[in-house]
Formats: sequence, C-alpha cells, structure tokens
Amino acid sequence: MLKQTRVIILHRMPYSDSSLIVKGFCFDFGVLSFLVKSAKSKNSPFKASLDPLSESEIVFNDSGKSDLHFIREASLIDWFPNLRKNLEKTAMAEVIAEILLRYLPAGLSQELDFRYTEKAFQILDRSENFQDVLARWLWHIADCEGYALNFSECIRCGTPISQIPADFSFESGGSICANCLGVFRPHYSPEFLQDIAHLVFRLPLQNPRQIEEEFFKYLKSHLGENREIKSYHWLQEVRNYAFCNTNS
Ligand SMILES: [Zn+2]
Repeated sequence: MLKQTRVIILHRMPYSDSSLIVKGFCFDFGVLSFLVKSAKSKNSPFKASLDPLSESEIVFNDSGKSDLHFIREASLIDWFPNLRKNLEKTAMAEVIAEILLRYLPAGLSQELDFRYTEKAFQILDRSENFQDVLARWLWHIADCEGYALNFSECIRCGTPISQIPADFSFESGGSICANCLGVFRPHYSPEFLQDIAHLVFRLPLQNPRQIEEEFFKYLKSHLGENREIKSYHWLQEVRNYAFCNTNS
C-alpha cells in the first residue's frame, strides 16, 4: 500500500554497499524506518532529499508486514542550508533529532510534535535569534507528550499567576505563588524565574541554556530513559569553543 507524507530525516546509516536505512519523523505516522535501495549511487533519484536534517515529501510502500518500508519517491522541501553552516545550530538540531528518535513511539501520528520540530528547524535556518529554540522546543514537547507543567496558577493553592512566579518546581509540576513559598528561599534564581514567565509570554529568554538544561532533565526523567543523548554533550562542547559563536 502506497502512502505519502512529509518527513524530517533524523538519521541515516549504510545497510549494504548500495543501500541505506533512513529514519524519519513523518507528519502522519511518527518515526518510521525506511530501506532505500541504490541510494548511494550517483544516479540515485533521491539526492539530498534523504539527507539527515532535511524535510521532504515522500511516497513509500507500507507492506504492513515489516517495520522497514521502501521509499519510492522523495522530493526535497527544505534542506535548511543556513542551519548547516553554523555548528551550534547544527548541534541543536541534532539534539532534537536524537530525542525524537529515542522517545517517540513509531507509527503514531504526532502532528503537533512535527509542527514544533519543523518550526524549530525553520528558526534555526532563518534567524540569528536562535538561542531560545531548543529550550522552547523541549517545553513544547514535554507538553505534547503529556507532561505539561502548570505556569498559569500556583500548583499548591490554585491562585492565578500572571507575572513571575515566586518559585518553580519541576517535581511538583509548576509555578508556586509568594504566599505558598512563605519564608522559604526559592530553588531557582530570579533570572530563571523571570525566564519561566518569559517562556509563557513569548519574550526572549535571558539565560536560555539554563531553561534548556532543566527541561532536558525533566523530559528525560519522565520519558524514563537513562540512555545518553550523545548530541546533548556535543552541543555543550560546541558551545565551549568560542570560534563557533558567530555573533560575538
Ligand atoms: Zn499558592
């Protein structure tokens, strides 16, 4: 049975001398694996459309029997060329790809996750204000996967919180109001708590890396995996090299 879908290519590996196995995040079917015959040949009709971190439209054959599907046609929608020119942007996209590969169940449509991922790649490709991208993506994905945190009211007393929360608790599920915090010292810095408010109000984050780190830990603990996300370590290494920071 032939099926058609948009796909973001997450990973690619050789299968034989001429073939490849490609893993992609499909708009309609979640993460699927594909066998691409003769993909390495110069005359391959697929060319860049199956490069990792590309978005393409594909037609594939779903036999229903195997987890490996055959790609019949592929046409490139976006190669995200500017994302590829910047090491930090590429590393951020790799983290997104690796998390999707590890955690998303196969075969189920996750349209919202797909839209957030596509949007994240587009911002990485088209904007120089990309520092918040991974932090925001992690926040959205936690939401999509059913681990939403409560930002709009206090998790203890239910009082609406319209500004900066007095504290925040990932373990307990969200924001805490000044009354409930009482005489205790907040777990997070004023900067972090302000960034929590900025996330919700779509304002630029002051320290996106800290937000990113906390949401990464939160998501990882909920998705119940101890496996390393290798690209996350790579991202930290990339950032430690000043040369890749083209803005400074
Ligand atoms: Zn409260």
